[in-house]
Amino acid sequence: MTNKLAEIVLAGPRGFCAGVERAIDIVELALAVCPPPVYVRKEIVHNRHVVDELREKGAIFVDELHEVPDDATVIFSAHGISPEVRLEAKRRGLRVIDATCPLVTKVHLEAIRYAREGYTIILVGHEDHDEVIGTMGEAPDRMMLIEHPDQVVDLQVPDPSKVAYLTQTTLSVDDTRECIEALRRRFPKIVGPAKDDICYATQNRQAAVKTLAGDVDVVLVIGAANSSNANRLREVSEVNGTRAYLINDARDIHSEWLEDVRRIGISAGASTPEVLVTEAVEALRRYGEISVREVHVVEEDVRFALPNELEQIARENAKTLPPRSAVVRQGR
Ligand code: SF4
Repeated sequence: MTNKLAEIVLAGPRGFCAGVERAIDIVELALAVCPPPVYVRKEIVHNRHVVDELREKGAIFVDELHEVPDDATVIFSAHGISPEVRLEAKRRGLRVIDATCPLVTKVHLEAIRYAREGYTIILVGHEDHDEVIGTMGEAPDRMMLIEHPDQVVDLQVPDPSKVAYLTQTTLSVDDTRECIEALRRRFPKIVGPAKDDICYATQNRQAAVKTLAGDVDVVLVIGAANSSNANRLREVSEVNGTRAYLINDARDIHSEWLEDVRRIGISAGASTPEVLVTEAVEALRRYGEISVREVHVVEEDVRFALPNELEQIARENAKTLPPRSAVVRQGR
């Protein structure tokens, strides 16, 4: 390889969002105050490193509730669940701690409201994503899913004057705008949230990658293949003309990607721990004298409160809930 690499440019913000921080805190605090075992339904966030670390600390990850024994404690993931799952947990007498991100819950509440008011709801999102499955479950008879603007033409609704739209929280800002514009053209009376439901963290990370893409020769996005927001970051870079790769961690970096590259950009999805960014920087530094700087497009100071169940469980077990700062791990 011709080694020209001289600079690493880090996207800011990158990595953990407030919903992911909260979800991981919930599992760690539950492990501290709940009698074991503590089950987690689905990946708490879409990142293998996070899941493996929590598994090592004692959390048991399952795909479905039937794998959880009666009377056990189960945590629902940050992506949310459908009411059906909640009811099943209640029927089984499971002790539930809900780590659904409050911004996902907001979309569920909007779905419930529109369904109650008699709207047909068009959800813009990715089929099979945990968040979409959960949201669609709020009003399965009233919701339709689209992923692309060209699907709008085929939509058949009972009353075109009574249509609402909602969006998954982790979509591409630009693609979603096109979907909403297509929906507005087809259903001029359509209603929806003030803008869309794409969360602050998704928007900020995409804005940072857009800025970064104009400044570097190639972008590495660190995140899981099943992480919606990490995939969108890679696409944002490509759409803005800069080759980009989605990698799990530093071990996935191929030296041929760096051929003739002087500046390399790094970002990380909302469920990627910062330690993986640090490791990628260290791996790239093995190519020689490389400086590191950061482009920072916006400051984030969002923090979500913990669910009340945790405090209650701690009391019942005569334990004190440790302060959240006490569970913050190195590298987060
Ligand atoms: S990406 Fe957005 S919606 Fe998802 S957990 Fe983070 S803040 Fe919540």
